[in-house]
Amino acid sequence: MPTPATDLSDRVRSLAGMEQLLVAVEGLPPLYLVGGAVRDLLRGARSVDLDLVVEADAAATAREIAARLRGRAVEHQRFGTATVRTGELVVDIAMARRERYERPGALPEVEPAGLTEDLDRRDFTVNAMAIGLSGSDLGVLRDPCGGLDDLEAGLIRVLHGRSFVDDPTRLLRAVRYETRLGFELETDTERLAREAATAGAIATVSGARLRDELMDLLTEAEAPAAVGRLRELGIARALHPSLRADPELVAGAALASAETGASPALAELAALCSARPAEVEEFVHTLALPAADRTAVLRAASRGPVLAETLHGGLRPSELHALLTPEPPEALALALALGAAGGPVLRYLSDLRGAALEITGEDLLSAGVPRSPAIGRALEETLRRKLDGELAGRDAELRTATELARGRA
Ligand code: ATP
Repeated sequence: MPTPATDLSDRVRSLAGMEQLLVAVEGLPPLYLVGGAVRDLLRGARSVDLDLVVEADAAATAREIAARLRGRAVEHQRFGTATVRTGELVVDIAMARRERYERPGALPEVEPAGLTEDLDRRDFTVNAMAIGLSGSDLGVLRDPCGGLDDLEAGLIRVLHGRSFVDDPTRLLRAVRYETRLGFELETDTERLAREAATAGAIATVSGARLRDELMDLLTEAEAPAAVGRLRELGIARALHPSLRADPELVAGAALASAETGASPALAELAALCSARPAEVEEFVHTLALPAADRTAVLRAASRGPVLAETLHGGLRPSELHALLTPEPPEALALALALGAAGGPVLRYLSDLRGAALEITGEDLLSAGVPRSPAIGRALEETLRRKLDGELAGRDAELRTATELARGRA
């Protein structure tokens, strides 16, 4: 049912790129702004994504809009959605649909439906509102689930009792919205969340879907508080019993990421894994992170605590270099979060990271040193001496390395 008292047309028009979009949708089947963009528009906050729903073929609608705006439409087969891109505008368009869960945790089967059913399949009431974009419907709010009331009361509420069982990724989403918006889980929703977590609902979800939601949660500014809620609600334990859901450590890892150049979300994930890295290794594998990210997380989780113990002010530059060069920045961030001495890490980052000789093995060969493994060892030892201030300049490097390689130093 439209909510006639609420005219949001001015606010809709003020969204970036919306004026041109409103012209482009004239005469097409009715389109609606939905989801997070509506929630944020009602809160007076800026939304990054514009999601639209149409009670018709989304791909055909997207192609028509793209043609009118001289943009591009890209279709995504699985859910019958499409993305339109023009200069400053990116909108995702989906066909209004109902969903059926074949089994808990699986991706749903979808079929065309009306707008109200489309809103009914969503995660939380505050995300289950729509605003008309077409003709005289512009700015008219659809709020069949009571989202506006919950938005005003600051509540995250599921739409039905099986919501978390049907799709346990909503457990992570609930916590993400709760902490981002400064809201609370509505009482029944919190009970359902605890029950679903305890009953093992998360085991029904693919690692890739968990990864997407977990990384989204860890990317939020409020990630430490969210991790605290994951612990309180039993969700962290349900993800893996050996996770260390310590908000302070996560906050420390996020903070230290800026100094070390680490990815905050990966450093935070490493923090979660750092209590018993060997036990959570398989869990990290199931998340199907890109290989480089997975390696960084596992290495940081196991080496961060060791570095926190090992680093001290008495280490020579060459020792620091040897200790820290093999480590990803996330290991340094975690070590700092765990209380590692800041001085040596900062010295490494400012002076030693990426330090190299001015000469290479080719220079030794040109100087007549025969090709052999002794060249590699000589270069290593020369670098060590350079880092510790025992030699300086290209000539000194070449002389020392040549002597070392010939076994004379
Ligand atoms: P954000 O600001 O985090 O991007 P969003 O609300 O735009 O918030 P998306 O993940 O982009 O979040 O999802 C868009 C909309 O799709 C949501 O507002 C919600 O209505 C719906 N949605 C997303 N994921 C789910 C889910 N797992 N179950 C039900 N509805 C979902």
